[in-house]
Amino acid sequence: MGDITGFLKIRRKDAGNRPLHERVCDFSEVEQVLNSEDRMLQASRCMDCGVPFCHWGCPVDNLIPEWNDLLYKGDWRGAYYRLIATNNFPEFTGRICPAPCEHACVLNINDEPVTIRENEVAIVEKAFSEGYIKPLPPYRRSGKKVAVVGSGPAGLAASDQLNKAGHLVTLFEKDDKPGGLLRYGIPDFKLSKVTIDRRIDLMLKEGVIIRTGSCIGGNISGKEIIDQFDAVCIAIGAMKPRDLPVEGRDLNGIYFAMDYLTNQNRINAGSIPLAGSNITAEGKKVLVIGGGDTGSDCVGTAIRQKASGVTQIEILPKPPPVRTDNNPWPFYADILKTSTSHEEGCDRLWSLSTLRFIGSDDNVTGAEVEQVDWISTNGRFTMQPVPGTKRIIETDLILLAMGFVHPVHEGLLSELGIELDN
Ligand SMILES: Cc1cc2nc3c(=O)[nH]c(=O)nc-3n(C[C@H](O)[C@H](O)[C@H](O)COP(=O)(O)OP(=O)(O)OC[C@H]3O[C@@H](n4cnc5c(N)ncnc54)[C@H](O)[C@@H]3O)c2cc1C
Ligand code: SF4
Repeated sequence: MGDITGFLKIRRKDAGNRPLHERVCDFSEVEQVLNSEDRMLQASRCMDCGVPFCHWGCPVDNLIPEWNDLLYKGDWRGAYYRLIATNNFPEFTGRICPAPCEHACVLNINDEPVTIRENEVAIVEKAFSEGYIKPLPPYRRSGKKVAVVGSGPAGLAASDQLNKAGHLVTLFEKDDKPGGLLRYGIPDFKLSKVTIDRRIDLMLKEGVIIRTGSCIGGNISGKEIIDQFDAVCIAIGAMKPRDLPVEGRDLNGIYFAMDYLTNQNRINAGSIPLAGSNITAEGKKVLVIGGGDTGSDCVGTAIRQKASGVTQIEILPKPPPVRTDNNPWPFYADILKTSTSHEEGCDRLWSLSTLRFIGSDDNVTGAEVEQVDWISTNGRFTMQPVPGTKRIIETDLILLAMGFVHPVHEGLLSELGIELDN
């Protein structure tokens, strides 16, 4: 621990975001970067806890107090090596991870947590800019060939690990470029695609073979790769979106969030939108159904496309502003989150159930919604409509962002007869 009283002297300082009026005019990343000196001071706030709860909260077991200490001392290179000891892609997690580590940080008890996520991305970006991230192909090859299916963060990380272990990895991706939801779901204003390309380039130089346009269980059969490889790792994500099969669902102007977001990400990359999915919010009254991160990404995208107005509705009640007694530290705080997209201008409404879509000439013109109460009985919440609260929200573009239910079963999973749990 570099500075034993750092947390008493230094206040938390976030890098902050680009000015609102400027960032809504483009799709560049919203988050700014703190200067190196301030960043090191932020690392000095880490108390090097005897029981580092941040580490408990981190799904990839990041050695947070260790690299915070090295960062505070100015040993950026040492911090980088501690960081990559557990994390294949700190440049992704440092940008877009919801940072459960910060929710678990011990400083939360009576102060603001350490800026763990921002420290992480600062360390890895310094490593890239100083040039000490170089392709590191394995010293020895095992002679085994592994196929990885799906190039989202799971498939990329599996490929990276398997390649480092010396196996010859071929990564198959059905889309035209690798990255999965990092590339075609998450908007550029949260994660620039240059960041993905830089990593892919490194992995190619380290010997991973990437075959895009290869749908396993589609244009290449599952059996073919099972026959050709010693092992197959399936990392195809959970891409089946939750639908809202109410009256009027087949009207024009109602889309799944992913169709909408993919379209804009493709345009930003200079690619042609996929057939039938050239959706734009320009000049439209947009209704986003679903109050989570995907919905928030739709909000930010619609604002940049110059929608005339954006409303986001959620069926669950509005979360509390601070932790409740049954959601204590160090658990992830289930509190109201206001994303940068929300700040950019959107009406947010909670406890609203969508009853039906209405339209004119086959085009959607509104959604009928009703207020609901959530009643707790023996710890189980049930939804009850509030009489007399039905109303119409006028809209000409509806984006369904209600999460994903499971992987796509058609194709690879059904061909291979993969057993499914609930
Ligand atoms: C809009 C949106 C925003 C999000 N924002 C965040 C965020 O800010 N922070 C965060 O932590 N998480 C976020 N997430 C969640 C995160 O993106 C996912 O948890 C993560 O991408 C899942 O990784 P994965 O590799 O399992 O699957 P995916 O990223 O879904 O990748 C699966 C890949 O497999 C490919 N594939 C599927 N079937 C086949 C096949 N048969 N043959 C070949 N290839 C195939 C797909 O084309 C895809 O490229 C967001 C998700 C969405 C949709
Ligand atoms: S919990 Fe917070 S203060 Fe403690 S070691 Fe982790 S980052 Fe540092």
